[in-house]
Amino acid sequence: MIEKRLVLVLGDQLDINSSLLIGFDPSTSEVLMVESQHESDYVWSHKAKIAFFLSAMRHFAEELRRRDIPLTYIKESNLSIEQAIRLQIQEKCITHLVCVEPGEWRLKKALEALASDLNVKLIVHEDTHFYCTINEFQQWAADKKELRLEYFYRYMRKKHHILIDQASQPEGGAWNYDDQNRRAYSKNGPGLINDPLKFEPDDITREVFDFVEQQYPSHPGSLEQFSWPVTRGQALMALDHFVNHRLESFGTYQDAMWKETPFGWHSLLSAALNLKLLNPREVIEQVLDVYQHGSVTLATVEGFIRQILGWREFVRGVYYLDMPNMKKANHYDHQQPLPKWYWTGQTQMNCMKDAVGQTLKYGYAHHIQRLMITGNFALLAEVLPEEVSDWYLGIYVDAIEWVELPNVIGMALFANGGRFTSKPYVASGAYVKRMSNYCDRCQYKPELRYGDQACPMTTLYWNFLIKHQETFNQNPRTRLMTANLSKIALEDQKLIQVHAKSILDRIDFV
Ligand SMILES: Cc1cc2nc3c(=O)[nH]c(=O)nc-3n(C[C@H](O)[C@H](O)[C@H](O)COP(=O)(O)OP(=O)(O)OC[C@H]3O[C@@H](n4cnc5c(N)ncnc54)[C@H](O)[C@@H]3O)c2cc1C
Ligand code: SF4
Repeated sequence: MIEKRLVLVLGDQLDINSSLLIGFDPSTSEVLMVESQHESDYVWSHKAKIAFFLSAMRHFAEELRRRDIPLTYIKESNLSIEQAIRLQIQEKCITHLVCVEPGEWRLKKALEALASDLNVKLIVHEDTHFYCTINEFQQWAADKKELRLEYFYRYMRKKHHILIDQASQPEGGAWNYDDQNRRAYSKNGPGLINDPLKFEPDDITREVFDFVEQQYPSHPGSLEQFSWPVTRGQALMALDHFVNHRLESFGTYQDAMWKETPFGWHSLLSAALNLKLLNPREVIEQVLDVYQHGSVTLATVEGFIRQILGWREFVRGVYYLDMPNMKKANHYDHQQPLPKWYWTGQTQMNCMKDAVGQTLKYGYAHHIQRLMITGNFALLAEVLPEEVSDWYLGIYVDAIEWVELPNVIGMALFANGGRFTSKPYVASGAYVKRMSNYCDRCQYKPELRYGDQACPMTTLYWNFLIKHQETFNQNPRTRLMTANLSKIALEDQKLIQVHAKSILDRIDFV
C-alpha cells in the first residue's frame, strides 16, 4: 500500500518549527487543520478566546501556504474534529495519522480510538514546548509520597542548569525568593505601569471577529479590546517588550491587585506560549539575558522563571498523571451552582466585580485574581468543581485543559484533596484588603463577619473554617487559621453560620 500521511496541526500546536514539519515530504504528506465549532463551544466560551484561536490558526495557515506546504484547511466546520479527520482519512486513503501530543486528554484518547477504528498508524510526536516530557514527569513522580512543586522545580533547575552557580548551588544561595515577591502596591496606588504591547487586529482577525459575532452572538465577553499577538512574529515582539519594559517590577508586585489595573506588571505571555507561538526556552533565555546584563533583580527573575520552569511544567505533568479522574474530583463534595454573576460581573462585591469585569473585557485576569478572588470565592461558596473548571476553561484566552484543570481542581479548589498542594488556598476579606484597594469603596466591610454589611468573602471564610476545623487542626500549615477561629466566641460562630447560609441561599444577589 502507498504510504499517505495526514499531518494534523491542532489549534494549540501552531509552531512553524514543529517536528511535524521537519523533513516534511509533500509527495506523501499533507497538513490538515480544522476549525471545529464543537471545539469552540463545547464549553461556554468567551468571544475573545474563540477569536484568538481562530485568528492564530488562520495566520498559521497563511504561513504554511507561503512555504508551499500542502494544506487542507477546513473553515467554520460544524463537524467535531474527530469527524472531520475521519472523513479526510477515508476520502484520501490515509495510512498514517501524525500529530504532536494533544493538550487535552479527551482528544488524545479520541485520536487513539479513531486510528484504531480506521486501522491507520497513529504517530504522536513529543511536544517540544516543554522542558519535561510526560514520561519523565511520571518517572520523577513515581517514588514520591507527595507531589510538591518545590522539589520538582529544584530538579528542573539543576537538570537544565538554570540559575545554578559554579558550585552547583542555587544562584544567590536560595532556591526561592517568594518572600520578596508579595508586595502590595503603595496606598497611593501602583503609580506608572508600562503598558503591555498591543496588536491592532488585521484583516484576518477582523474577518474572524465578524464570524464570531455572527455565530456566537450570545457568548460572554467582548472583542472590543482584543489586542493579543496572533502570529509568531507578534509573540516575539510581545516577549521582547515584556523583558525590556515590564519584567523589572514583575516580581515585587506579582501578587498585588488594584481596581481597574487589569495587567499589573504581568507578562501576558501565557496565550502565546500555550498556542506554541513561543517556546518557553526562548522566554527563559531572554529573561536570563536581561538578568545577566544587570537590569533586573534575582528575586524577580527567579520568581518569573519559577512560573514557567516550575508551575507550567509541573501542572502539565500532574494533568497527564491524574486524568481522567482529575476532572471529576470533588474532595469536599461541593454541589452549589456557579453564581450567575460569574458571567456578567453584576455583583455588589467590588473585588469580584473588578476581576470578572476585566475577564469579560479582555479574556484575562492575572494569577492572584484567578486564585484568590474568583477561585477562593468559588471554593468558599461550595460550588461544584466541574462548573468552576468549565467557567475557567471557557472564559480565559489562554485556557487549555492541561493547564486550566490542575490549576482549578488542585490549586484553587483543593478538589483533589491536596494531591499537590499542602493546604486549601482560602482567604477572607482581610487578605483582599491587604493586597488591593478593592475594599475601599465596597458596600461590604472586610472586617465584619456577619450582618448586612459583612463581607461575603469573610463570612464564608469563617464558615468554611468552622466546617473543616477538625482537618485544619491536624495540618501544621492551617493550624494557625483554626487557632484564630478559637478566639471567636461560640455565639458569634453560630451567627456566622446563619449568615453564611443566607448568603449561600441568595448567592446570585450578593
Ligand atoms: C484557577 C486558575 C486557573 C488558571 N488557568 C490557566 C489557564 O487556563 N491557562 C494558563 O496558561 N494559566 C492558567 N493559570 C495560571 C496563571 O494564572 C496564568 O498562567 C497567568 O495568569 C497568565 O498570565 P500571564 O501570562 O500574564 O502570567 P505571568 O504572571 O506573567 O506568568 C508568566 C508565565 O508563567 C506561567 N504560569 C504562571 N503561573 C502558572 C500556573 N499556576 N500554572 C501554569 N503556568 C503558570 C504562564 O505561562 C505565564 O505566562 C490559572 C491559575 C489559576 C489559579
Ligand atoms: S469587602 Fe469583601 S466583597 Fe468587598 S471588595 Fe473587600 S473582599 Fe471583596
